[in-house]
Amino acid sequence: MTTSNQTMECLIIGSGPAGYTAAIYAARADLKPVLYTGLQMGGQLTTTTEVDNFPGYPKGVTGPELMQDMQQQAERFGTDVRFGIINSVDFSKRPFMVKTDDGKEIFAETVIIATGATAKWLGLESEKRYNGNGVSACATCDGFFFRGMDVAVVGGGDTACEEASYLAKMCRKVYMIVRRDELRASKAMQHRVMNAPNIEILWNSSTKEILGDGKVVTGALIGDNLTGELRQIEVQGFFVAIGHQPNTDLFKGQIDLDEQGYIRTVPGSTRTNIEGVFAAGDVQDHVFRQAVTAAGTGCMAAIEAERWLATQG
Ligand code: FAD
Ligand code: NAP
Repeated sequence: MTTSNQTMECLIIGSGPAGYTAAIYAARADLKPVLYTGLQMGGQLTTTTEVDNFPGYPKGVTGPELMQDMQQQAERFGTDVRFGIINSVDFSKRPFMVKTDDGKEIFAETVIIATGATAKWLGLESEKRYNGNGVSACATCDGFFFRGMDVAVVGGGDTACEEASYLAKMCRKVYMIVRRDELRASKAMQHRVMNAPNIEILWNSSTKEILGDGKVVTGALIGDNLTGELRQIEVQGFFVAIGHQPNTDLFKGQIDLDEQGYIRTVPGSTRTNIEGVFAAGDVQDHVFRQAVTAAGTGCMAAIEAERWLATQG
């Protein structure tokens, strides 16, 4: 174990849009931020091709390009970007102490947590094969590509209902694949999907296979959970909306999490229950989960960290 005896002013955990935006602001405020990238350098957007809804790119941009641009912008102002994982944190006293996967102990006056969230998947091999070629976990991101086509949404919670309603406005038909005979979603969301003329709910159903022509999705094989009967539906888009898992295992017992494991922040801010620790992006947001909202809260976290440090004398 090596210990760095220098306490850094601002440590940022995560290299998605929230982490890099926090780094740009923190570096420009002269906090000399150190950013640990984690295993997925650049975050979730590096797993997608076209990003069409991030402002400033009128012709669209690929996820990896956008994240490289953000990294370069953060480095231009002096962010120390380190490839590595934070394995544990101790927020019980200041300066805060974190341990890295290569055995370093480092100390920081402020910590900005931007570790994101991971979409849950069904676990089918065909789901992996067609990911990005018809299979998606984000209708707001990818729905546009399926205008006028038929799509399916798996799940019966608020997210699935929201995704199905969103898709119903632009697609010809939306199948909802629901594993029980009822929806978990709130009554308001249930009414919305039940009243949409082009949404058909397949109750007691599970996906056995996502079908394709080797390049793109062409359909899905659906099993009836009560009778075992199989049927095939023809769809070009297949949206998995069975929940997300915030990347917060590392922070359990150290910081307030909600029932689903997201970091609780004070409404309208990125402050957590620990003074000096801020959370930005998907790790504290189960509602919007967009690159631009992650970037927005990254900006807020850096400004709040700077102002908090100024009060510490
Ligand atoms: P993430 O991007 O999830 O980044 C988290 C970071 O934390 C990663 O760098 C990871 O390595 C790091 N990390 C995790 N644990 C540790 C640790 N222990 N130590 C150090 N680092 C750690 N949004 C849009 O706005 N438009 C789109 O078109 C769009 N398309 C998408 C397509 C796909 C396939 C997916 C999956 C998502 C898409 N999204 C899109 C959503 C968008 O990617 C997320 O909302 C956004 O990336 C969240 O940013 P974030 O910075 O909060 O976290
Ligand atoms: P969720 O409430 O956990 O619902 C997940 C859904 O996916 C459930 O219907 C579940 O089925 C189904 N599911 C889980 N694993 C599955 C699998 N392997 N195969 C098939 N189906 C599977 O998740 P969520 O919808 O993402 O919502 C998360 C939280 O955010 C909730 O508190 C929700 O209210 C909130 N939210 C609110 C809004 C809003 O208010 N507008 C929008 C989005 C999310 P079962 O029901 O059978 O378990």
